[in-house]
Amino acid sequence: MTVQNRYGLVFHPQELYFLQADAESLIAGLKKAGFMGEAFSIDNYQANLAGENFLKMLTFLGCSPQIELTLPDRENWHNFCHIQTQYFPQPVYYRGMNRTRCACSQCGVRITDTLPDLSQWQADQQIVQCPKCQEKQPVEQLNWRQGAGFGQFFISVHNIYPNEAVPSDPLLNLLNSYYQSWNYFYYER
Ligand SMILES: [Zn+2]
Repeated sequence: MTVQNRYGLVFHPQELYFLQADAESLIAGLKKAGFMGEAFSIDNYQANLAGENFLKMLTFLGCSPQIELTLPDRENWHNFCHIQTQYFPQPVYYRGMNRTRCACSQCGVRITDTLPDLSQWQADQQIVQCPKCQEKQPVEQLNWRQGAGFGQFFISVHNIYPNEAVPSDPLLNLLNSYYQSWNYFYYER
């Protein structure tokens, strides 16, 4: 069985490069703080349940969110909120199938239409020139408007709708105590 998470909220360090040893100590810290709970695996899919303080560490923007935190049967994955950490040997471009809306980091003009093919993205290899202010910037430095991210380490909270929740200050403080400056984005399939 392949787990098909349909949408989620993903955190990653702003820096493209991240040491695996730092990822391991951060994961231990997230477990200790009760953000991440027990590990589980189904076939080849491995992730963690939400921890006992998970709901306190995200700020839900709508009224009375319906968040399912217990492991469901195999037919009901689509509503199950859980956490997956992913470490990659090289920085990657991480996104869902949602249409990305990125903008020049200098002048803010939208430049989605002139993006190069990012399927083989590598750090600092693909430069875009802004059609308005002419600034040249690597694609990973564009403003991706919380629709995609670049890096080596990602903490994905699967099955949170786009803009349904944002990280709380205690969660950001915890993340920042391990590594300064985090971004987050939402993906959809
Ligand atoms: Zn510009």
